[in-house]
Amino acid sequence: MNTAVLSGKGLAGLIQQRAQDQARLLESEGLRPSLAVVVATDDESTHWYVRSIERAAERAGIGCRILDLGHDATEQVLASVLKDLSAEPTVNGIILQTPLPAGVSADELVGHIAPEKDIDGANPLSLGRLAVGQPAFAPATARAVIELLDHFEVPVAGRNVVVVGRSAVVGKPLSLLLLAKDAAVTVCHSRSGPLETYTRPADVVVVAAGRTGLLTGSHVSPKSVVIDVGTNVLADGSLVGDVDEASVTGVAAALTPVPGGVGSVTTALLLLHTVEAAREQSRSLVRATAG
Ligand code: NAP
Repeated sequence: MNTAVLSGKGLAGLIQQRAQDQARLLESEGLRPSLAVVVATDDESTHWYVRSIERAAERAGIGCRILDLGHDATEQVLASVLKDLSAEPTVNGIILQTPLPAGVSADELVGHIAPEKDIDGANPLSLGRLAVGQPAFAPATARAVIELLDHFEVPVAGRNVVVVGRSAVVGKPLSLLLLAKDAAVTVCHSRSGPLETYTRPADVVVVAAGRTGLLTGSHVSPKSVVIDVGTNVLADGSLVGDVDEASVTGVAAALTPVPGGVGSVTTALLLLHTVEAAREQSRSLVRATAG
């Protein structure tokens, strides 16, 4: 069995280009789309990730402001910064980057991100709107999986799709997006029982558990298209997914690599969402002024 490698790099480049083209168009109308990323950690890999978003934004002609509040920022300070950014007309998109300081939970804080600026679908209102089919930003990672499947022409309508993981940032929104595309969706988690029972018969398996080596060759079949969302940093600093690549290769039909799969598409989508948010906000302003 020749397992196809579904790299996300080409698709990320296309999305980045779309964001750049749309940003140029908005700039010609006097609006420079702008993103704010709130950080409150000393974690080096988080800072590296945020800088990679900043560089990608610069390349696309999108403003990017990083607000580093330090590892000891309080929940009150974070809430106040998010409220201020939500009210600031020059900011179109807001990301609250995790991890947060010890004792500070993102659950309440994300509610302070204005839904129209919630470009990573973190506010529970965004998830609720997705659930009932109303316009909202999906978390970029969840949309990245859908974009990858579309790009490689993997059908999901009427197909058996298994999502491993039920978090509010990946598993749940992704299952809603798949349902909206008419997939028959099963969501697995740490208490759903033997994984292979669900994953072996599936046409598409998306793994988002944050567990190195969770999905092996014995969990898949020759028809399986496997999307690996996991990002796990090993002791030597290398990045791996949730899929045991060595054992799945040669058994499954296709697999996304880590790194170079879902993650690269996710960053590009954050930029595209920022431009989409900027465009929608300027339209609303015109409507409000006209009305
Ligand atoms: P999370 O909040 O920790 O959720 C993990 C989910 O996996 C939970 O629903 C958990 O089940 C389930 N799970 C854990 N162990 C399992 C097992 N042995 N069998 C079946 N299910 C299991 O993590 P997350 O934020 O969703 O992130 C998941 C992974 O995606 C992480 O590696 C994260 O770094 C990565 N990620 C990648 C991107 C990207 O852009 N590539 C973006 C976001 C996240 P329970 O609910 O029962 O605990």
